[in-house]
Amino acid sequence: MTAHRILFLVLDGISDRPCPDLAGKTPLQVAKTPNLDSFAREGVCGVMDTIGPGIRPGSDTAHLALLGYDPYTYYTGRGPLECEGTGIHMEPGMIGFRCNYATVSNRGKVTDRRAGRIHDTQDLSAAIQKGVDLSRFGVEFIFRSGAGHRASLALRGKGLGHCVSSNDPKKEGVAPLTIVPLKDEPAHRKTAEVCNEFVRQATAILSSHPVNQKRESEGKNPANFVLMRGAGEMGHFEPFNEKYGLSGSVIAAASLIGGIGTAVGLQRVHVIGITGSQDSNLSGKISAALDELKSRDFVLVNIKGADESGHDGLALQKTAFIEKIDSAIAPLRTIEDCIIVICADHSTPCTVKDHSADPVPAVIWGEGVRTDCVQQFDEISCAEGGLCRITGSSLLPIALDLLNRSRKYGA
Ligand code: ZN
Ligand code: ZN
Repeated sequence: MTAHRILFLVLDGISDRPCPDLAGKTPLQVAKTPNLDSFAREGVCGVMDTIGPGIRPGSDTAHLALLGYDPYTYYTGRGPLECEGTGIHMEPGMIGFRCNYATVSNRGKVTDRRAGRIHDTQDLSAAIQKGVDLSRFGVEFIFRSGAGHRASLALRGKGLGHCVSSNDPKKEGVAPLTIVPLKDEPAHRKTAEVCNEFVRQATAILSSHPVNQKRESEGKNPANFVLMRGAGEMGHFEPFNEKYGLSGSVIAAASLIGGIGTAVGLQRVHVIGITGSQDSNLSGKISAALDELKSRDFVLVNIKGADESGHDGLALQKTAFIEKIDSAIAPLRTIEDCIIVICADHSTPCTVKDHSADPVPAVIWGEGVRTDCVQQFDEISCAEGGLCRITGSSLLPIALDLLNRSRKYGA
């Protein structure tokens, strides 16, 4: 029997390098992972350069590649994808930014880049949306709160470019920067001018807003400034269901990953209690995925916590979280009629505390797969597997072929 559905389980940053804290082994090698190992034993394994050998991926470019959208064509910056992730429908040509609410002192210096980790910013964002007027530039905007102190801004109008700098000085105790064009062309100059005007008007609204007056009276840092970065222009994404003939959903706590999903036309599924962190509701994600697979051909689930441990350099914490993932995925062991792909989007070695270009382990499991000799799901064992070394953009075509749905090339 041929499977009809595909599940992509992307374990964000789970891949690593030998860790001194783990006697020279990787967290995946050390962690007890009976479920991941069963998939490896029964499936076909390999290692994968998500984008290409030696290319250090961001989570965004990596997920684009995994979904088969060449990041070199589709990626101009994180902003538009973050905008999608906060629920703004981005049309091709719109310019998107990631934003932060921040605190700026009376003397004009950034004193807190996260505005006291404010979390309920809906009223502030609504006031900005209502009060800021960019019509003299012929520009409309959408400003939305994201999780915590985060927000996003989308601009729509004629003659806008996306090559502009950020106003985030990236440190506290200095004044916010003026946004400048990074290319000396009218479109980029116009966007820079629009952004500076947006920030000027938003600051005036925020400084007198009752939410901030209340915060100040309580001794909290007011959210009186908007820092913006990650400018990008929304591209035209060929819809996922037209590209592959599959209907699909995405399950991810991170707005960036959810935004990539909706940008390519996947349905975003919200799950209660998912945080993108160590305390996330992993079983909730897995059961939501199983539910989605009842009506969808394709589901992508992103589990983020291991990446966080890698960035913090905490090998033991990463190992413990991998074991938590392993128990959460137990219900997938009995799934039928489904090709399961398990991989990372990139390595986040604890010794590097950032993403590296080391290839990541990958396994494809399900009906029709030619099982190899790999017994364990880790970076070293998977390198011995039947997939050998592939790129991220090959995963979906391989999975599609296992559904017997790939198009024949030639006669
Ligand atoms: Zn990632
Ligand atoms: Zn990361």
